[in-house]
Amino acid sequence: MVLLFFMDGVKYDMMKKYMPYLSSLNSKPLLSDFGYSCACHATMYTSRYIEEHGTWFIWKRGDNSPYKWINYIPFLKYINFLPLKLVIGKATRKLSKNSSYSGVPCLVNLPLKYWPLFETCDTKIWNDPEWKKEIPNLFTILRENKVKHHVIALHKNTKADDAFIEEKNVDYQNDKFVYYFIGYTDNIMHQYGENAKESQEYFNKVDKFIEDTVKKAQKYQDDITVIAYSDHGHIDIKSPLININDYFKKEKSNVNKFIHLIESNYARFWFRNEKEKDLVIKVLKKMEKDNLGFIIDENYKNKYHLNVNPKEHGEIIFYLAAPHEFTNTIWGFGHSVKSGHGYEPTLKKHYGIFCSNKKLADNRDFAYLVDVLPSVLEQLKISRKNYIFKGKNIVNTRKAN
Ligand SMILES: [Zn+2]
Repeated sequence: MVLLFFMDGVKYDMMKKYMPYLSSLNSKPLLSDFGYSCACHATMYTSRYIEEHGTWFIWKRGDNSPYKWINYIPFLKYINFLPLKLVIGKATRKLSKNSSYSGVPCLVNLPLKYWPLFETCDTKIWNDPEWKKEIPNLFTILRENKVKHHVIALHKNTKADDAFIEEKNVDYQNDKFVYYFIGYTDNIMHQYGENAKESQEYFNKVDKFIEDTVKKAQKYQDDITVIAYSDHGHIDIKSPLININDYFKKEKSNVNKFIHLIESNYARFWFRNEKEKDLVIKVLKKMEKDNLGFIIDENYKNKYHLNVNPKEHGEIIFYLAAPHEFTNTIWGFGHSVKSGHGYEPTLKKHYGIFCSNKKLADNRDFAYLVDVLPSVLEQLKISRKNYIFKGKNIVNTRKAN
């Protein structure tokens, strides 16, 4: 029986300090994707890179915007009034058929006139048969192979105790595989950061839950393989938050003149002409000079498998380096956020975790998100020969295979 525990945003050094059960297992730091959780999930369920599965950010430019209807109401898109935006966001969310984990978020600080230009990369939740149906993934392969299994607490609106409560649905007698989704670890990190008691105690609670669950499973079945992992680490944010428009103002311009999306630590731009592009590059070069980050160039795109369609994901993408975050983003103002992620995966504080009660491959310093699916299938004795995976099995083996 394979028990797969996912914890969002649990970082390696905190696991070692506050999760005694997990740190008693074999473990490796995990190198994340260069992106947010939605990219990580698509990567770990398909064992394909971002440039293959196409989910990098929640939003991309496209013709299927859930906000298209704004175009049909005269003048509406020229009104920029926050309470109105919140109502439009809420109404669209209610009417939308989008079942993905993030759903259809409100684009808080983006002018309404740009909203109809953007659509979500994911429209279905990961274990829906329609999710990226052209790429075999963890859930379709389990179904195809008729593996008796349960998926626990994988749904929207993550609350603190979801996995602890829903664990009772597992059939420990007959299941061959269980996936426990623990999303709240990320919420608590964003809210409190790594030095807060709240985060440390919650990590400890999750650790105890995993230990108790494994012990429970051991009463029913002899051979239990535990794999417990996260998608990325977390880095406490340094104030003050960066307002990108301060840099546009220095060039006597305004960021809202451009088609763009500002996320916590990425700014993406699309251009209507060369003049626009030149000005944006000029602004971003000044930010580079102030050591705030860099424009993602070909080297980074190759290194992190980000050769996506720039028309969709951004023609110029600026990465705001750790420990900075932007204010006035599509998510809000960011004033209450203590910790963030989406930083360069090679930063130590951004390491996620990969733990198992079985041996982990000796020839690897790190685990990668693409290793999750091959490792699970190998433990379930499901042949991988008909699938294209970018990762390897690293569990119960001396050499990654
Ligand atoms: Zn995450």
